[in-house]
Amino acid sequence: MNDTKKVCDLCGLAIETPGFTLNTKEGDKGFCCEGCKGIYQLLNEDQILPEPEQD
Ligand SMILES: [Zn+2]
Repeated sequence: MNDTKKVCDLCGLAIETPGFTLNTKEGDKGFCCEGCKGIYQLLNEDQILPEPEQD
């Protein structure tokens, strides 16, 4: 684990709150907010992979 600052894959702002992530065919994408995540999801529907089961 390192704590490299990530930026939102939609709008490019720094991600202050982790947790808005998506698994895509291009790798993990991170977003600054639920809104950016939702928009990315709409625009890239065919790239989104199902969430792995976490428990
Ligand atoms: Zn964003």
